[in-house]
Amino acid sequence: MYQFQETSSGGTMGESSRHCIFCEIVHGAGEASICYEDASAIAFMDIQPVNAGHVLIVSRDHYESLNDVPPAVAMHLFEVALHLGPIVRQLSESDDLNIVVNSGEAAGQDVFHYHVHLIPRRTGDGFDVPLPFHGSAMPDRTLLDAMAARIIAELRDPVRRTRASRRVATA
Ligand code: AMP
Ligand code: ZN
Repeated sequence: MYQFQETSSGGTMGESSRHCIFCEIVHGAGEASICYEDASAIAFMDIQPVNAGHVLIVSRDHYESLNDVPPAVAMHLFEVALHLGPIVRQLSESDDLNIVVNSGEAAGQDVFHYHVHLIPRRTGDGFDVPLPFHGSAMPDRTLLDAMAARIIAELRDPVRRTRASRRVATA
């Protein structure tokens, strides 16, 4: 696990008062093999790659997960992943890729500084994002329709729409 550790100094890493390995790398205090940098993002090689060429794209500012990363920043990190994708594919001599975000502990996030994995894939490499999930049955269509209707109702909620557009505007 690469979770935060409490420090006594605090306050120097964005809004967080806790120590973060990716903030250290962003601030030049941690060792990393950086392959891309711009004003709001950096990318470096994963220390424990699935395959050679496994890159992490990281926001310069500290956000823990999808719950607090501004949409514009999240979209920019995805753009960087798309930008690096063809290069990683070429260098790893593999056409296949996973772009993965683990957001939150239950979703398998270990480093709580928002990041995107760009993972070149090879047949038989043993890594897997097993979908469809064999542990679940296919629900009745009425249940799928009901959930879709709930999402549509939330999207139509004017209060929610105002809040969401404010978040995008301030990102
Ligand atoms: P996640 O489960 O999405 O939080 O994945 C965290 C990833 O960060 C793992 O793939 C780790 O191998 C990687 N990682 C952890 N510490 C470092 C580090 N110091 N430099 C590069 N990659 C790291
Ligand atoms: Zn951080």
